[in-house]
Amino acid sequence: MQEYFFVACALRDIVGRFRRRSGYLADLSEAVSIQLNDTHPALAVAELMRIFVDEEGMPWKAAWSTTQRTFAYTNHTLMPEALEKWPRPLVASVLPRHVELIEQINDQFLKEVTRRWPGDVDRMRRMSIVEESWPQQLRMAHLAMVGSHSINGVAQLHTDLVKHQLVPDFHEMWPERFSNKTNGITPRRWLLLANPDLAALITSRIGSGWITDLEQIRALEPFADDPEFRSAFRAIKRSNKERLARLVHDLTGLGLDPLALFDVQVKRIHEYKRQLLAAMHVIHEYLELIEEGKPPDTPHVYLFAGKAPPDYLMAKLIIKLINGVAHAVNSDPAVNGLLRVVFLPDYRVSQAERIIPAADLSEQISTAGKEASGTSNMKFALNGALTIGTLDGANVEIREAVGAENIYIFGLRVEEVTQLRKSGAYDPWAYYHRSENVRRVVDAIVSDRFCPGEPGIFRPIWQRLMEHGDEYFHLADFESYEATHARASLDFVDPEAWARRAILNVARVGRFSSDRAIREYAREIWKISPVLDRPGNL
Ligand SMILES: *Cc1c(COP(=O)(O)O)cnc(C)c1O
Repeated sequence: MQEYFFVACALRDIVGRFRRRSGYLADLSEAVSIQLNDTHPALAVAELMRIFVDEEGMPWKAAWSTTQRTFAYTNHTLMPEALEKWPRPLVASVLPRHVELIEQINDQFLKEVTRRWPGDVDRMRRMSIVEESWPQQLRMAHLAMVGSHSINGVAQLHTDLVKHQLVPDFHEMWPERFSNKTNGITPRRWLLLANPDLAALITSRIGSGWITDLEQIRALEPFADDPEFRSAFRAIKRSNKERLARLVHDLTGLGLDPLALFDVQVKRIHEYKRQLLAAMHVIHEYLELIEEGKPPDTPHVYLFAGKAPPDYLMAKLIIKLINGVAHAVNSDPAVNGLLRVVFLPDYRVSQAERIIPAADLSEQISTAGKEASGTSNMKFALNGALTIGTLDGANVEIREAVGAENIYIFGLRVEEVTQLRKSGAYDPWAYYHRSENVRRVVDAIVSDRFCPGEPGIFRPIWQRLMEHGDEYFHLADFESYEATHARASLDFVDPEAWARRAILNVARVGRFSSDRAIREYAREIWKISPVLDRPGNL
């Protein structure tokens, strides 16, 4: 009902406005593009058909042609639980006419499939908008694709996976409908507003053109080798870290050393994003320090923040583990302030604006193939943090942009993950027995040392890690993650060299502006040009 409410209001508004201006509804697509932002508004395809056919008395064929030319669909995730499927009886109880229309759309669509692939019943079953389960389910992503002239993913790797793994049948049928539109972030919020000192420093050297044309920030590249600029850049990072330390102190009572490496993972809590892998690394570093007397190469602050949906038990448990580790580490006198672990509650945009400008290292460590794009990866790089990450989502394009020597890449590639999943060869116990470090961390999680008052509470995490069915291959990437972290810590000991690479990140991520992304949607999908580019407009 909520999804229909929004869709119905938006379409009523769009159609009413169009009619007051121009009149002839079959021409709607000449003036209007509707971008379906994920599957949530997919009902709009049926609702527009209802307006055309039932209210306006338009012939089906004309109505369908205008509908398809009006809609475009953006896929935002490959995670199966996020691709909406609604039970047909549930939808029919709220929107009986829409179910009829969806079935009519589906009949026409399946006729097209049969014309192209006669007798291929399996393909029809796979492509149908109606899944033949009990009860039947309506596949909203299929409705969105069938009702649209354009289908796009949000990073190059993600678009390739949409085409070849998620919906290969649709790509085979309509290759021309698919394209990539890599996500972007707005430089106004994520640099000018969130990091005013860095913004002013940049403007003092290259002018303010970057604010509305982020590619211009490339002019900063030569300043990476300018000691005076580097010193100003480092002073700003330092002051942003002090500002964040004050916020952390106000919210948690904990003091942070602004000279420490600020290592940050902030994003929604989800198993595929692998906050658990980052927590395992923290546990490893802690145990190395207190059990082997090996201090880290540099004092280290680990900062986490992020929300989980209230019914996602494993995500809530991971938050609890991070808090348990934070308590153990921060209250252990043997740590002597060399490690600090913080979980900041109530992560949100206003908090991100404080945290991101203060980061030295940006954690982007999802299992390869799972993160569609990511955008915090872009925000961090633009604010002069180096990335430690997997070759997933837009990380791949960030590496191309900043250069492999200015980013820390580790772990399995998509093809390796796919292969490991297909072969069924992933055996967490093999990693457990092979590596003393893995063993020590996994044993510590299940030992209750991070939950002394609630014995056994982390057992479900241990089970998830040690089951063959760990979809996210934590143990497979652990050692590569450790080795890469060790390199980063060692590099951080040379602040000038670190600052040089951080500045090169800032200078080279201009392509990740949302202005570029929106321009691509405008030109290639909506077929519109900026008003200011038209003759006669200044
Ligand atoms: C940018 C942003 C996100 C997206 O973060 P990812 O790491 O790309 O998942 C989530 N929440 C907030 C508050 C953000 O600012």
